Amino acid sequence: SFHRILKEEIEQEEHLGRGTRTNIYSGTLRVKSEEDEDAGYSSFQEVKVVLKVLGSGHRDISLAFFETASMMRQVSHKHIVLLYGVCVRHQENIMVEEFVQLGPLDLFMRRQQSPLGTPWKFQVAKQLASALSYLEDKKLVHGFVCAKNILLARDGRGTNEGGPFIKLSDPGIPITVLTREECVDRIPWIAPECVKSTSSLSVAADKWGFGTTLWEICYDGEVPLKDKKLTERERFYETECQLATPDCKELAELMTHCMNYDPKKRPFFRAIVRDIDMLEEKNPSIKPQPTPEVD
Ligand code: ATP
Ligand code: MG
Repeated sequence: SFHRILKEEIEQEEHLGRGTRTNIYSGTLRVKSEEDEDAGYSSFQEVKVVLKVLGSGHRDISLAFFETASMMRQVSHKHIVLLYGVCVRHQENIMVEEFVQLGPLDLFMRRQQSPLGTPWKFQVAKQLASALSYLEDKKLVHGFVCAKNILLARDGRGTNEGGPFIKLSDPGIPITVLTREECVDRIPWIAPECVKSTSSLSVAADKWGFGTTLWEICYDGEVPLKDKKLTERERFYETECQLATPDCKELAELMTHCMNYDPKKRPFFRAIVRDIDMLEEKNPSIKPQPTPEVD
């Protein structure tokens, strides 16, 4: 259920980093121009892309990687990264995705010299909630909502730029096939019920991850539980601890609702979007200027 891309259609360029069992490169994809095809000849357009390369390995892992790809192919939303397709190159499987100019949100936030204001943070939160609300309506689970997996298409810090514009990246390999250690290492993003059993993965888990991401946004990309060892992380959930409460009162409250140890008590994303809208109405100071669309 996903588009197959031929290895001849992609060019691999710079190594951008490492994900969970993957390597990420920038690259180009050659796509046939459809207009030309109608006119009876063909020319190619080059698109800047990201190549998420999974090396040869366990069959379970490859299958799970394809599951993520097929989930991403089912979605079309302005705040979710576009997956062009999957390429099989020798023993490797490659997801070919839209390149998002300003990279991951956590690194961007940490790089800033002057503080990012509350309206900016609210807009990021609202865009993320709208993407997750869309997935919720489609009963699709993302599975790894975190600031690292939010990419910034426009920083919108200039006066006439209309604020930030984010795109939620794919979740990578689903936790159901990761090791226990890899799952524990994802505390405090992974939902507590999923550490107990990865088969508990559901839309409710994304609400927890959204809560943790709000924490990262409030703290300008700081890493929660940064220096904690695996056993300390496990202990954090076992004793039902909570992260420090951010100064931004409104986002802190939303965060706490989402990070409820009982998955059934976490709010619907639809309600979260409404809450953020209402908070903006009540506080004109955090209300952003109307945003022009990104192409
Ligand atoms: P994980 O499952 O851990 O999320 P991943 O394969 O998605 O694994 P990331 O750590 O999210 O890997 O991404 C690695 C790096 O690749 C990021 O820090 C970022 O610099 C870059 N990157 C990923 N996706 C994009 C993109 N669409 N546009 C630009 N850069 C990207
Ligand atoms: Mg990622």
